[in-house]
Amino acid sequence: MSLTAIISDIHGNLPALEAVLADARERGAERFWCLGDIVGYGANPTECLTILRELCQHIIRGNHEQAVLDGPYGFNPLAAAAIRWTRAEVLKVEDQLPFISELPERVDTDHAVLVHGSPSQPLDEYLFREDTLDHLPRNRDYSPKLARSFRHIDRPCFVGHTHIPGVIDGEFRWTAPAECDNEYDTRGLACIVNVGSVGQPRDGDTRASYALFDGQVVTFRRIIYDVESAALAILNTRDLPDPLGRRLIEGW
Ligand code: ZN
Repeated sequence: MSLTAIISDIHGNLPALEAVLADARERGAERFWCLGDIVGYGANPTECLTILRELCQHIIRGNHEQAVLDGPYGFNPLAAAAIRWTRAEVLKVEDQLPFISELPERVDTDHAVLVHGSPSQPLDEYLFREDTLDHLPRNRDYSPKLARSFRHIDRPCFVGHTHIPGVIDGEFRWTAPAECDNEYDTRGLACIVNVGSVGQPRDGDTRASYALFDGQVVTFRRIIYDVESAALAILNTRDLPDPLGRRLIEGW
């Protein structure tokens, strides 16, 4: 399989997206797959949509795309404010809303399953490290939530949504990128790989996160980008709440 860059949760962060795409090309990526949440939070949603629509072989619908279509139900006030502004921006660009409305919730390729949240609830279920066996209450050795997800896949499944990179294997164990030297061999087996977030990392590391995949081995990448300019763009947009800019600088 040709080397594929898998990106997620760009959230309208154009400097982060450009830095990630440049790194992926430098590393020899020939294809691009996107797991959703291109928009929401950040100041450049339509620019990110335009670039990725042109570039990606597959784009999955995220919960922020869904909220642009249906309204920000269940969103916190900051995220909801960003969705209202984002929808107005998207409506200014011809064809973008229809494009969003046609995005699939799941794509199966020869080597991978692509969803935004989880295999059992593609749009909006979170799968955290805390759902894996090492973090369950004492003496519990079974996670019904993860079992439900693994029933829906028979090969590596790529997700985003939590904005925290890592792998959950078929034994329901968690491996962080640092624990595998940023290289995880799936051996083609069912597992759930979270590629992290390009535009709003939440693990305390402000660098953009994405992954490369050759059909078997996942390589986790962290990329330095101009965080200040992404934050400033949010602060300078009147209808976007300022804390959404500040959190980029703090990495959560
Ligand atoms: Zn997201």
